Amino acid sequence: MYRLRLFAVRHSRGFEWLYRRLERLMIGLDPLFARIGHDRVEAPVALIERGVKSLLFDCRMCGQCVLSSTGMSCPMNCPKQLRNGPCGGVRPGGFCEVKPAMRCVWALAWDGATRMEDGARIREVLPPVDHGLKGSSSWLRVSREKAAALREAREAERTALARAFPAAREIEPATAPLAEEPPRAVSQEVRK
Ligand code: SF4
Repeated sequence: MYRLRLFAVRHSRGFEWLYRRLERLMIGLDPLFARIGHDRVEAPVALIERGVKSLLFDCRMCGQCVLSSTGMSCPMNCPKQLRNGPCGGVRPGGFCEVKPAMRCVWALAWDGATRMEDGARIREVLPPVDHGLKGSSSWLRVSREKAAALREAREAERTALARAFPAAREIEPATAPLAEEPPRAVSQEVRK
């Protein structure tokens, strides 16, 4: 709905705040999703995402949401589907050359980005759309990737000391315990 799309851009900061909370919640739920099976969770999450975002942003479910980088203005609503800025045909007043009654999604994007805390992200070059992801849940994919990165970072932190011991022993045996670390303290990866 076009009016709601304009509303979302005007309140981009609020939507940015909301999305961060949602993302945190989804990351927190990731272990549960993993237990159920991400493939099984995909369909219901995608259905909710489609419902909410279609209403608010005229979402086309491209599967690689960039609303956080585009001031809450969905670039897939551009008739040319440009993901990195407007074409050269923006009309006076910031209207689209293909659909003259519609504001250019990129004029709106700049407008929305100026209101956002992380608005500088609009300057980042976005990758081309991967059409293979069309229809899939962006929320689920992003939270799954971030949860995996967090787990990796925690594991690296947890085993940092254990990994440091062998090197410390080689330099100065007295600086590190001579006994082997208990197996639980050293991950399998470290042992390889
Ligand atoms: S960028 Fe993609 S997922 Fe995000 S609102 Fe637009 S079509 Fe939907």
